[in-house]
Amino acid sequence: MTRKYLPSQCPLCGGTKKEGTTTFTVDLDFGVVVVRSVPALVCAMCGADWIQDDVASRLETIVNEAKTKRLQVEVTTLG
Ligand SMILES: [Zn+2]
Repeated sequence: MTRKYLPSQCPLCGGTKKEGTTTFTVDLDFGVVVVRSVPALVCAMCGADWIQDDVASRLETIVNEAKTKRLQVEVTTLG
């Protein structure tokens, strides 16, 4: 028997993914970028999170801007 995970199920623990927010952190050579209130699917059981593609590309823009500005610490909020 093969067990197939539903997209709404966490592949790590089988818990239910729920819409929520997470904090996205990137450690760059020169500093750290922290983005709060990032919309994501969060597992109700283990807390693992999944960021959607469109949100990921917005995060990429923020990271690229931080690289250009070369800020040591960039803390921002998405949305
Ligand atoms: Zn889980």
